[in-house]
Amino acid sequence: RECESERLAALNTIEARTNDDVRIQVLGNIEFPQEVTQCAKRGADGIGLYRTEFLYLGSDHEPTEEEHYDAYCRVIEEMGDHPVVIRTLDLGADKIPGDIEEFRTKADNPALGLRSIRLSLRHLGQFKTQLRAILRAAVHGDIRIMFPLVTTLLELRRARMILADVIEDLEDEKIDFRKDLPVGMMVEVPAAALQAHNFAREVDFFSIGTNDLIQYALAVDRAEPSVASLYRAGDPSILQLIQMVVNAGHAEGIPVTVCGQMSSDPKFVPLLLGLGLRELSMVPANIPVVKQRIRDMDLAAAQRRADAIMGQVDTPQTINMIPPK
Ligand code: PEP
Ligand code: MG
Repeated sequence: RECESERLAALNTIEARTNDDVRIQVLGNIEFPQEVTQCAKRGADGIGLYRTEFLYLGSDHEPTEEEHYDAYCRVIEEMGDHPVVIRTLDLGADKIPGDIEEFRTKADNPALGLRSIRLSLRHLGQFKTQLRAILRAAVHGDIRIMFPLVTTLLELRRARMILADVIEDLEDEKIDFRKDLPVGMMVEVPAAALQAHNFAREVDFFSIGTNDLIQYALAVDRAEPSVASLYRAGDPSILQLIQMVVNAGHAEGIPVTVCGQMSSDPKFVPLLLGLGLRELSMVPANIPVVKQRIRDMDLAAAQRRADAIMGQVDTPQTINMIPPK
């Protein structure tokens, strides 16, 4: 066991390449700024998902622009030239700030309620505060913006309009900021996956959020133990949605990442790469095992296996078709 952990630790400084020499970007998901150290130590190629809800959760006030700015600067300082994808607030549903009255919800069905980008578009003051801080911090590193839970094109366009307003304000105020940073979206609602070809023309990248995508596509509460056995990443419908998003992204020449829990699981790595993904973002602790899995696999074989899996009509246990290493 000790040997195994030593072997994995040796991967920290080595990049992820398949046996047949295809470079894969291995990125980290973080919630708290201090987690960036874990990612840097394990040789992450960047931060693929920076969840910014921590600024609200556990706080008794709405974060100020400076609090946002400091949190973002801390992460880019440590990641150097590597990309850092900052996701705008994804509050609501399972992420409820206890101490800020207006965000408390009494909805019966919060996962389908006023959450995430929907909430940001109703609280423009806070949304703009966060966007200002992101644009200002982007002067110091390779920051990218990502909107969560985008469901319709109209919603994306509204979010982009607010971003354009913020850019104008900063220009008027002659504040130092970066204007041309990439803007992407999470694909985590089946409606967005089905419309990915249209979304792909209006964003710079996609990141597939399988945690919510599975919940909404299979109608299974991601946090409900009594239906946990029905929550299956390998379900053919999920694989098909992922495939659609990857194809749509590649057709428009934009990068596609998976940042849900699925990409942290070495068992799914060959399948995801076989479906065309070249970037995976995961919990920092799993970076070494995923790197190891990538180095052990042959991409051409993974593609053939993914094709075979996608060609099956009735595959209730799809993932079992992937032989263990
Ligand atoms: C997801 O939904 O897959 C995701 C990465 O976001 P979160 O888990 O924060 O909802
Ligand atoms: Mg999500």
